[in-house]
Amino acid sequence: MARLVVISNRVAVPKARGVAGAQGGLAGALNSALKANGGIWFGWSGEETDEFTGSINYVKSADGVTTATIDLEHQDLEEYYNGYANSTLWPLFHYRIDLAKYEREFGKGYERVNDLFADSVLPLIENGDNVWVHDYHLMPLGDCLRKRGVTNRMGFFLHTPWPPTNLFVSLPYHERLVRSLLQFDLLGFQCDAWLDSFLHYCWKELGAVVDHDTGKISLDGGTTIARAYPIGIDFEHFSSKGDTGEARQAQQRLLSSTRHRTAMIGVDRLDYSKGLPERLDGIARFFDRYPERVRDLVFIQIAPPSREDIGSYQHIRATLEQKAGQINGARSEVDLVPIRYVNKGHSQEELYGFYRAAKIGLVTPLRDGMNLVAKEYVAAQDPEDPGVLILSRFAGAAPQLDCDGEGALLINPHSADDIAHHIRLALDMPLEERKARYQKMIVTVRDDNVQRWTENFIADLAEVAG
Ligand code: UDP
Repeated sequence: MARLVVISNRVAVPKARGVAGAQGGLAGALNSALKANGGIWFGWSGEETDEFTGSINYVKSADGVTTATIDLEHQDLEEYYNGYANSTLWPLFHYRIDLAKYEREFGKGYERVNDLFADSVLPLIENGDNVWVHDYHLMPLGDCLRKRGVTNRMGFFLHTPWPPTNLFVSLPYHERLVRSLLQFDLLGFQCDAWLDSFLHYCWKELGAVVDHDTGKISLDGGTTIARAYPIGIDFEHFSSKGDTGEARQAQQRLLSSTRHRTAMIGVDRLDYSKGLPERLDGIARFFDRYPERVRDLVFIQIAPPSREDIGSYQHIRATLEQKAGQINGARSEVDLVPIRYVNKGHSQEELYGFYRAAKIGLVTPLRDGMNLVAKEYVAAQDPEDPGVLILSRFAGAAPQLDCDGEGALLINPHSADDIAHHIRLALDMPLEERKARYQKMIVTVRDDNVQRWTENFIADLAEVAG
């Protein structure tokens, strides 16, 4: 079997997940892939250095995964990571051109760090290795490696959405960025919606020949295959959390503190893409519309802070604190606080317990590449008494979890009325319907797991090139 070289911005140690609060769904997925194939994981260490020396730190973990990391300079991080990746591309890719910042220095820093990644990882790539690059931080890397003579099979997976063409063209030098992406042999997207937008761009702006059935993009004598590979959770691993004392304790804590009321839960990094203010508006609308139900429901929002150096994140945090305070201020009684807003991260074990105790999972991003929380919520349910998942139609997970209209309750996260209406439906849903919906969703959550995701991507990578 070919060795795998995974390259991503951050190289994360699995045990730090959750405790750090907000690492996202990427870390567990990549560790599983590396465990299965052998190889190395290269990226930024998370550390700053005064001067980049080019030295690489190697660590071999207990489960056989070797990580190779570099430290980056402050200015590089400001321009590449906080700048171009998280202040230009992230908002743009989540359809928020109002928040996207286009600074010349950010673009230069982005290209400089991609070159630096290419120089550093080059000696680690051996003949026959499959190279798998991850996410929006490293889109030019395929081109950088090809320019340095790398002929290996190279794939790229985008964990975020890809925006519609008429938004994407607001990015200066958009054409250059996509042309460099086309240096990869295989491009993966989370769902058909993002894939279709990408194919549309290649056809309309670059004049590429696009075959929608196979995902083949032909341009200037080269070809790339682009397909959808919806990422899943590590189902076995996550399910095993249910047997831990920590999970049981978390479940009990929540149940005993909510007593006769139904607990509804949201778990999200504090990010403007997650639709948190709109979610609180929907809950406020529910309380206004059904005042007789105020005592029936308690909403718990777990929201670990994220990317705190960036202004738009400071702003969303302030907005939420204010909104949660206002809603509670207007509706609390001495024995009742409708919203519990928790601004810190929790372990996967604790999350399992919270998900299980909550009879409604409320997942309402305005735009999300996939959203693993929705899948974890389903995985943690009691099959004999499952909760209801309310899910944004704009999450990459929606096409999978709607299960032909008989799985999750899909909502428009911009509509407070729609959220309120579906909360009431979920509260009143009979056990038989809850079970039927759960039975539909659990099949895809269990079977379309992270192992299948990596197998599918790697199998296609082996086939499309070479
Ligand atoms: N998560 C966690 N602790 C927390 C909050 C979130 O471990 O306090 C995890 C959560 O279980 C999930 C991931 O962070 O696995 C979030 O992934 P998702 O795809 O939902 O969103 P992202 O943060 O990647 O945008």
